[in-house]
Amino acid sequence: MSLVERLASHGYGELHLAHDPATGLRAYVAVHDTRLGPALGGCRFIPYASEEQAAIDALRLGRGMTYKAALAGLPLGGGKAVLWREDGTETRLAPGSPARRDLFRAFGRVVEGLRGRYITAEDSGTSPEDMVEIATATKHVVGLPEAKGGVGDPSPYTARGVRRGIEAVAREVLGRDSLAGVHVAIQGIGHVGLSLARELAQAGCKLTVADIMFSRIRLAQDQVQKDVGIADIDGILETECDILAPCALGGVIRGDTVGRLRCQAVAGAANNQLADASIDDALHRRGIFWAPDYAVNAAGLMWVAQAACGLTREEAVKKIDGIYDTIASIAKRSKAESAPPGKLADRIVEERLAQAG
Ligand code: NAD
Repeated sequence: MSLVERLASHGYGELHLAHDPATGLRAYVAVHDTRLGPALGGCRFIPYASEEQAAIDALRLGRGMTYKAALAGLPLGGGKAVLWREDGTETRLAPGSPARRDLFRAFGRVVEGLRGRYITAEDSGTSPEDMVEIATATKHVVGLPEAKGGVGDPSPYTARGVRRGIEAVAREVLGRDSLAGVHVAIQGIGHVGLSLARELAQAGCKLTVADIMFSRIRLAQDQVQKDVGIADIDGILETECDILAPCALGGVIRGDTVGRLRCQAVAGAANNQLADASIDDALHRRGIFWAPDYAVNAAGLMWVAQAACGLTREEAVKKIDGIYDTIASIAKRSKAESAPPGKLADRIVEERLAQAG
């Protein structure tokens, strides 16, 4: 499929390609949809096998941002940028080095050239310090460190939003009045997973955790629950529990995983949890409720984009807590209409976009 055909199949109008000879920067900026507001999405700076792969990733991720922002009720569209260096030295540009500083300043000029149609942010391979360099050339950037006027690490807020989503699942799917005694299996005790474990433990949940790094499990034992259950990397998906919370990587629920799950619901922070869209139906057929990832993990976006959306901190937190209502309403509709939750969430987004004209 050619790039233009891909653009059309993802519902895009624009994919910008930029080159800065002085720094070796090359960038794709995918602007997916601006009907609800400027396209906001992070900039990735990781190695890609080919230029085509970089473009495909920008297109895939930018579209996801449109859906996340629209379902969250934010006045934003979706986009994504993928940066690389013409000599393939992305991972060797040390933080704070002049070459890295110049590259991100050059990217800031690219963003400025889009005149506010695209707002950039931190993503895989970039840091709040890189956002500071971008900000020397444009105001269309979020995610700066607190000391530079930003809002800081969004992970604890993402965890808060996931906890609110899990509360809605407990109420609407498990028929429980509170989280007390609800068993949650968390895959990935990273920035979000550890905060989530803390919040769930405080609410009285029983927890089982897994991580590829034993040091992260130690943290859960030391800081969350001494007797936290521990599963191995494959075993976590088969843990008999109420709710499975994927908080590590995308693509963990695959065709061959669905049959092995022993939970009543899946609700976690990871992006793109389902290997493909058909898994939404497969989970529904098995009677497992899937809280759409882009609905349940939207708090990170709500937190970092608060200034771009004209929200105060208090209003952003209120919006984050509103993830309860979003998930509860999807769960109710899924039951009433016997429809897979992912399809319902997509339909809500598409209706909002159509209304926006
Ligand atoms: P992180 O890198 O801090 O944590 C990921 C954790 O998962 C790490 O501890 C890692 O060791 C572990 N891990 C990796 N592979 C694993 C495997 N196969 N099995 C078990 N554990 C594994 O990342 P994070 O910021 O906590 O984000 C977690 C997920 O949530 C990611 O998919 C991210 O895209 C998504 N997300 C994060 C935020 C945020 O605010 N940080 C917002 C929205 C979505």
